[in-house]
Amino acid sequence: MMRKLMVAGNWKLHGNQAMLRQWLADFDAFDESLKGLDVALCVPYVYVPLLKAAAADSIITGAQDVSAHDTGAHTGEVSAKMLQDVGTQLVLIGHSERRQDHGESDDLVRAKFQQALAQGLMPVVCVGESQQQREQGEAFAVIERQLKAVIDLLNVDNAAQCFIAYEPIWAIGTGLTASAEQAQEVHQFIRSQLASKDVTMARQIRLLYGGSCKGSNAFELFSMPDVDGGLIGGASLTAEDFMAICQQAKKQLNKTQSS
Ligand code: PEP
Repeated sequence: MMRKLMVAGNWKLHGNQAMLRQWLADFDAFDESLKGLDVALCVPYVYVPLLKAAAADSIITGAQDVSAHDTGAHTGEVSAKMLQDVGTQLVLIGHSERRQDHGESDDLVRAKFQQALAQGLMPVVCVGESQQQREQGEAFAVIERQLKAVIDLLNVDNAAQCFIAYEPIWAIGTGLTASAEQAQEVHQFIRSQLASKDVTMARQIRLLYGGSCKGSNAFELFSMPDVDGGLIGGASLTAEDFMAICQQAKKQLNKTQSS
């Protein structure tokens, strides 16, 4: 089964309007055909409308979080319906920085996932273990627990629109990347967990790797059978670095198409 590769940027708490306009102009100017790839950019909420208005159709408009509530007395929250209203297509859920900095639990991640699905947004659920959990041999147990929160909400009808991002916390923003083999091992585990619920669903869902992914290591990571693209933090902040990763995804796509 051919799953379309996805390269998604995550700007985190970076950027401003001028930077986004410049990024889009630069990205466009590389003039690469990204046909056959999915490319997304997740920006802070306030820049979503600008991204939507200024991006070429080839860039999927993404946000970095969503409320677990649909409406009501929840000051400071942004609902899935509001995101959908301003043209958001994709949303990150349960990024490790939210789990750590904002105490997001698996139950909250589940509620956010439900909200995103209900509004037809493409959810990217982030999972991954800390350095300490890996060292203590708990990586698979942690990921299994994180997956369990959403697995029963996944099915053959929504799988093609859903993503799981494996982001080992020790690799995020540290310059340490999981080796392609380490990534594959976990991705295969994730897919097997999903397959224990539904084999067809598990084949359709795309699994992204995130954690210090860059132009120099993307090809190897994307060549792994269960790695269907990447979630890119630091290297998404300049169009040049981000395009370098997209080019590697394209190279991988060309290789599989010609084989
Ligand atoms: C991320 O936080 O989603 C991420 C992958 O960050 P970085 O690429 O900077 O490690």
